[in-house]
Amino acid sequence: MKSIKHVIGGAEVDSADGATFEDIDPYTQEAYATVALGGAREADLAVTAARKAFDEGPWPRMSFEERGKLIHKLADLMDQHNEDLALADTRDMGKPITAAKTKDVPRSALNFRFFADHARLAESQHLPNSAGFHTYVQHAPAGVVSAIAPWNYPLMLETWKVAPALAWGNTVVLKPAEDTPHSAYLLAELALEAGIPEGVLNVVHGFGPGSAGEALTVNPAVDRITFTGESGTGKAIGRAAAANLTPVSFELGGKGCNLVFDDADLDNAVSWAIEAAFGNAGQVCLAGSRLYVQQGVHDEFVERFAAAAAALQLGDPKDPATRIGPLASQEHYRKVTGYLDAEATGHAKVLGGGAAPGWFVRPSIVIDPPAHAPVLREEVFGPVVTVTPFATEDEAVKLANDTPYGLSAMLFTENLHRAHRVAGSMNSGNVWVNCFFVRDLRAPFGGFGDSGIGREGGAFSREFFTEARTITMRI
Ligand code: NAD
Repeated sequence: MKSIKHVIGGAEVDSADGATFEDIDPYTQEAYATVALGGAREADLAVTAARKAFDEGPWPRMSFEERGKLIHKLADLMDQHNEDLALADTRDMGKPITAAKTKDVPRSALNFRFFADHARLAESQHLPNSAGFHTYVQHAPAGVVSAIAPWNYPLMLETWKVAPALAWGNTVVLKPAEDTPHSAYLLAELALEAGIPEGVLNVVHGFGPGSAGEALTVNPAVDRITFTGESGTGKAIGRAAAANLTPVSFELGGKGCNLVFDDADLDNAVSWAIEAAFGNAGQVCLAGSRLYVQQGVHDEFVERFAAAAAALQLGDPKDPATRIGPLASQEHYRKVTGYLDAEATGHAKVLGGGAAPGWFVRPSIVIDPPAHAPVLREEVFGPVVTVTPFATEDEAVKLANDTPYGLSAMLFTENLHRAHRVAGSMNSGNVWVNCFFVRDLRAPFGGFGDSGIGREGGAFSREFFTEARTITMRI
């Protein structure tokens, strides 16, 4: 059986006490690898290695060109190992291999290329003053970064953190989610192969509370914590980070809305709504899991949407034709199916859907649940979508914003005025009009309310991963 180890200070290591846990393939429901189980000891060792690489190593002192060259080399190696990286995520969490190969891995390599180039080309403020003083701003690397990641887009979200942190000269300790340790381990190996110095990218495996995750949030030698995961976990990490005044960047849960107006191009709306609700088996923070459809097109939309959902192929995630794989773990399968019982749906009718053999859930469409129903209020994080009719634009905006989350919103309309008006009324960090999930890496990404603190992407990543130093000089 494969053995997945920590990568600390350039070496592959086991935990000091030899502890391991199993890496379960959710399709076979069997362990296919053992994983080193890190605790505070391993997390602290990794932070010490990262600290040493930052304080004494070449990385923060290299030019942007030198660092960029190594980061580009890593991206090239990722392309060359596309299959291995894709299969790692597919086996770890059931992501369909076609999505992993054509979206997750290429986008992960792009994250490195983009942030290396963005850092190299970035300008900084320069404020001449006629009174004889001259001010300019430096962006110094922050230091050691703890990066704590979720399991739904393992490699893609890890690289979204690691790439800008490295590009700006920081060193990193990455803790992948316990369900998806494999691709992070491969990434750390490839980083060493690319020539990125030892200790610059460390990977520690383990769980959250009382394990490696928590240890990475309480260590005073950590200068930044970037976390993606559940809002409740964000609150726990926020409390831990406060003790050391460690700055945090949080990308948390979501309960995205999707508004379809009477004048929408329905072919386009149905096609994106399917992707938004059921892509990655709905295990997406940005998922359009609350559909609101205007009365004039409601019945036609639901009919076409349900037919398209029923046509999505469930199956072995290693099969290139599969669109929906199993849910990532048994625990998650139980959570998601719990949202389909009568109490959670408020006794609403469910079209299609329900549990299938294995840890599969078929695309499930909950028709007009009551406003208090947990399926409508809480993040399900599975292939479950609610559909609620609305009459007016004002009503649609109120319904859309009736959530403590604020990560993503979508709207479909051919009316230009309405598109801008409604987009500008969404309490949401990301709004897509007539599309979904299209990302420009220069743009800020993050959420309002319970969906997060701060933004990452482009210059926003620089703000988080560097310390600004203002220098004023008398000429
Ligand atoms: P999670 O919060 O359970 O775990 C995320 C990571 O945090 C894991 O690595 C886990 O081990 C670690 N962790 C847990 N408790 C910890 C603690 N007390 N201290 C330190 N680390 C701890 O989330 P998950 O189930 O892996 O991921 C799903 C969630 O992530 C959903 O809520 C989803 O919306 C959210 N998410 C958000 C975004 C975004 O960009 N906003 C993207 C993807 C996923």
